[in-house]
Amino acid sequence: MRIVVALGGNALQKPNEKGTPSQLWDNVRRTARLLAASIGDNEVVITHGNGPQVGQLLESMIMAADVYPVQTIDIADAMTQGWLGYLIQTALEEALGFRRRVLALITRVLVDAKDPSFLNPSKPVGRIVSQREAEELSKRYGWKFERDPRGGYRRVVPSPEPLEVLELPIIERLIRDGTVVIAVGGGGVPLVRQGDRLRPVEAVIDKDLASALLAIGLRADTFVILTDVEGVAINYGRQDQRWLREVTTEELKVLYAKGEFPPGSMGPKVLAAVRFAEATGNPAIIGSLDEAPDVIAGRRGTIVRPP
Ligand code: ADP
Ligand code: MG
Repeated sequence: MRIVVALGGNALQKPNEKGTPSQLWDNVRRTARLLAASIGDNEVVITHGNGPQVGQLLESMIMAADVYPVQTIDIADAMTQGWLGYLIQTALEEALGFRRRVLALITRVLVDAKDPSFLNPSKPVGRIVSQREAEELSKRYGWKFERDPRGGYRRVVPSPEPLEVLELPIIERLIRDGTVVIAVGGGGVPLVRQGDRLRPVEAVIDKDLASALLAIGLRADTFVILTDVEGVAINYGRQDQRWLREVTTEELKVLYAKGEFPPGSMGPKVLAAVRFAEATGNPAIIGSLDEAPDVIAGRRGTIVRPP
């Protein structure tokens, strides 16, 4: 079996945590133990988010800006791939009793320079700042800020569609060869092709959409999205909330169009699952990390079936 597993934020850091190294290690080790049994002898690619960590990194760079130059988001993305990839890689090798080799790969993803999101940055990154700070930072770095619903301002960046995973061929060779690969961390490092050059762009690609693109490219047998809820619900958070156990892509698209799934959270997961199931004819599953073995086996979570 060829499996792509996308890990959500809760695999690395819990909402009440600051993200100290020992907290990260604890969470990643727990995640690795949850995944180990399902990995077995399968061909496996693990992907992961980087929201809190890339935010922290960008913030730290601003704080040190008088001493060290502030790096760009694409560089920060690559840094989080190394940071988190290293943790996952080490924890997974341990959990697998060193029977498998695990490799974290810096992964670059092509986007379109004309993607509409470049004209309308909407993805919030980093912490909330005051209006004065926002004005200073936009003057100094040309960053865009938007009002946050909780008050104050947050930097917003474009979130373009992922078009091509540059490392796809090498990932395929590695998994064929028995290596467990960690790839497209944080949605991948975004670049655009410009003639014979690759130009980095300051953007954050959605990790679920990038993971789906990778899973489609690999023709995976299953695409699993692990998060902090037991699956996809309709009427989420309301009295009449109902978890979906099995749903077709057609049904899910109707619900998506009705606005059941918000853009920043369940929306991209549903879209990613639909794209995968339609492109490959194989099922995608969205479920809870805590129940990972059962979700990966299709016994828990929401199974998204092709038409
Ligand atoms: P991750 O970090 O795993 O990518 P997100 O926080 O982005 O996770 O998305 C998962 C969250 O989506 C859940 O914690 C839940 O609060 C929210 N959510 C919104 N709408 C729904 C829905 N219809 N069904 C299930 N969860 C939903
Ligand atoms: Mg989350």
